[in-house]
Amino acid sequence: MIDSHIHLYQYDDIEKRINHWQEEGVERVVAVSNDLKSSYETLELKQKYPQFIYAGVGYHPEQKPMIEKEMHELSELIQTEKKHISLIGEVGLPYYTLHTLTENEQRQHMEQLQWWCEIAKLESLPLVLHAVHSQAEQALTILKQTPELKAHFHWLKAKRPVVEEIVTAGHYISFTPEICYRERDQILAQFVPLSQLLIETDGPWPYNGPFEHIETTPLLLVHIIQMLAEIKHEVKSKIFVETTENAKHLFGN
Ligand SMILES: [Zn+2]
Repeated sequence: MIDSHIHLYQYDDIEKRINHWQEEGVERVVAVSNDLKSSYETLELKQKYPQFIYAGVGYHPEQKPMIEKEMHELSELIQTEKKHISLIGEVGLPYYTLHTLTENEQRQHMEQLQWWCEIAKLESLPLVLHAVHSQAEQALTILKQTPELKAHFHWLKAKRPVVEEIVTAGHYISFTPEICYRERDQILAQFVPLSQLLIETDGPWPYNGPFEHIETTPLLLVHIIQMLAEIKHEVKSKIFVETTENAKHLFGN
């Protein structure tokens, strides 16, 4: 199985952890970055564990927009490290911090997502998107300007018509451990075909319900698989194989 979205640079004791995760059947992880510094850290990890990591360079949208210098350095980094980068992420549009941003900053975020789309197109890389609730529709509108792009809407929360549009456009949608205890996510999963489903932990993000007080690691993926099997009326092995294949299809073999 593949964890399609994790902030790997935020974990300590990484070597021991990766060994353990591999023993437990975690084949790979998609390691996303939040800014320039963490992009460097992710690429350092990629150097150490090239087979285990799909590395992403990006800038998390739930913060102030990038300044010119950071944009410049990120694009330089992508140029020089091209061979080791499998995706652009995580990038997207702010939702939870919208109220802290001026109108001008909100507009900048939209422009910067367009900028990321252009880079992704230029480098033929998939985009890993943080674009939830009303922002999913906005992000989709921006994505449509570059129809050749493939995107992963990570931990998507959106209304059914938007979910269906995302599916029709051929993008991927992932589910976190939250699907095990949140009806909203269980309903959403019904509208996503198996061929476009991914599983992720967004680790080390903490969860509630049965995972309260449990550290978030890729070891939680098995619970997502179990729940998806129930929702899709499929055997667990089918979900296991399909989500792994989908990740490989999107992020490379
Ligand atoms: Zn994330």
